[in-house]
Order: sequence, then C-alpha cells, then structure tokens
Amino acid sequence: MENYFNMELLAVSRNESFARSAVAAFAVELSPTIEQLNDIKTAVSEAVTNCIVHAYDKSKPGVIYIKAAISGRSVQIEIADNGTGIEDVDAAMQPFFTTKPEQERSGMGFTIMKTFMDELEVFSDRTGTRVLMKKYLGGKEA
Ligand code: ATP
Ligand code: MG
Repeated sequence: MENYFNMELLAVSRNESFARSAVAAFAVELSPTIEQLNDIKTAVSEAVTNCIVHAYDKSKPGVIYIKAAISGRSVQIEIADNGTGIEDVDAAMQPFFTTKPEQERSGMGFTIMKTFMDELEVFSDRTGTRVLMKKYLGGKEA
C-alpha cells in the first residue's frame, strides 16, 4: 500500500458531494483522465447514497466510513456503514432490484458501480454493509 486515507462522516445527503470529491481528489495522484475521475465520483456517489438512503433511519443518521488506498496504478475504495445490512446481496446487485421503489429508486446503484469500476465486492450482514471497489488508472508511470 503506497498511500491511503480514512474518513468518517455523517450519513446525510449534504455530505454526498463532499465524499465523492474527496475520493476523486485523492485519486488525482495517479494522473487519471477526467473520464476516469468521473467514473470514480459516480461510483462513490452511488455507494454513499446507499448508506444514506438504505442503511440508517432518516430520523437517526449513522456514520459512513470511507477508506481509499493507492497501490501501484490502482485505487481501492471501501465504503461502509453500521446500518441494517442487505438481506440478499446477490439479489440486491441485480439491475432494477430495489427495496424502495416508492422513493423513485431505480435499483441501478450496484449496476452503475460495477460498470464504472473494475472490481466490485459487497459484504453485508445485520451489523452493516461494506462495498469494496477497485479501479485501474492508466496514464504515465509515476
Ligand atoms: P438507485 O441506486 O438506482 O437509486 P437502489 O439504491 O434501490 O436504487 P441499488 O443501489 O442497486 O439500488 O441497491 C439495491 C438495494 O440494495 C437497495 O434497494 C437496498 O435494498 C439494498 N442496499 C444497498 N446498499 C445498502 C446499504 N448500504 N444498506 C442497506 N441496504 C442497502
Ligand atoms: Mg442505490
């Protein structure tokens, strides 16, 4: 591991933009293209939004834990919560699967993360959810 950062923030929607910008800014070290940076922002935004919308009660927001690490030319991002957890992770990762259709959720968050990142793993139980994503960033060798 050549570099990393760790942060925790309250799971409220006004922190979403800060979270995705922080992770993207961290990844700049690897000289990514604008498109790659936008991919990272989009994926982080989906994972963070899931913590805000699904993990905790709106009236009692919990904490979002974000870690990012750079190793070689890839960035690994972990986004975790201590919320309700996901009952069936395989089902939840299917396109259009949502448990909140009444709130204009389309069930595309995990599909978007999978599309925009190179690797995606989701671990979840009743103590919370952990999303691990990895993206290889091309460009010149540092
Ligand atoms: P969209 O992301 O398109 O707005 P969505 O959030 O429902 O809709 P996904 O992001 O793909 O779709 O998530 C699928 C489902 O997985 C959610 O509906 C929810 O039931 C569950 N889920 C995802 N993340 C979490 C989480 N951090 N905690 C608890 N449940 C989650
Ligand atoms: Mg979602």
